[in-house]
Amino acid sequence: MKLGIFIERDGVLNKVRTERQHQVTPMTHREFEINREILPLLKKLKAAGLILIATTNQPGLSDGSLSRRELDMMHQTLRRTLPLDDVVVCPHAEEDRCPCRKPKPGLLIEAKFKWHLDMDRSFVISDKWQDSEAARAAGCTSVLIKSPWVGTAHHDFLLPSFAAAVEKILQLQVPGPAVAV
Ligand SMILES: [Zn+2]
Repeated sequence: MKLGIFIERDGVLNKVRTERQHQVTPMTHREFEINREILPLLKKLKAAGLILIATTNQPGLSDGSLSRRELDMMHQTLRRTLPLDDVVVCPHAEEDRCPCRKPKPGLLIEAKFKWHLDMDRSFVISDKWQDSEAARAAGCTSVLIKSPWVGTAHHDFLLPSFAAAVEKILQLQVPGPAVAV
């Protein structure tokens, strides 16, 4: 079984504007700006054999404020720029009561079956509490990056940066010392 790293898209993989204490998700490909400084860090995770999966809630698809075409273009650019294995999207609004809108774990569970992931040894990286809640429900370890959106719910680690999150995960991946026989 493989190990997965689920990474929140908005605010982690791509930049977002902040308005009135909320992140504003880009609605067009033109506005979509990738955090290129994380590329070497993602390459480190890839080199360790981990499956990298971007996850994102995009309720704009449900209410029509975000077009599928713009989103597809954003994700083509995302996958061309960063070494991601998959990008999984919840297209629903909160009132749709779907099983995949984070903090629900549906996106993680779907990827678990598709990629044959060992969830107990997989990780979620995000700047938001919704992802640590999804991680808890799916049985993964949550690594939050300090932000105004980490909330007070359970998380396993809270670290100052994406770089620190990656270092922590790689540290936890290192097998213990071999027992002499
Ligand atoms: Zn959904």
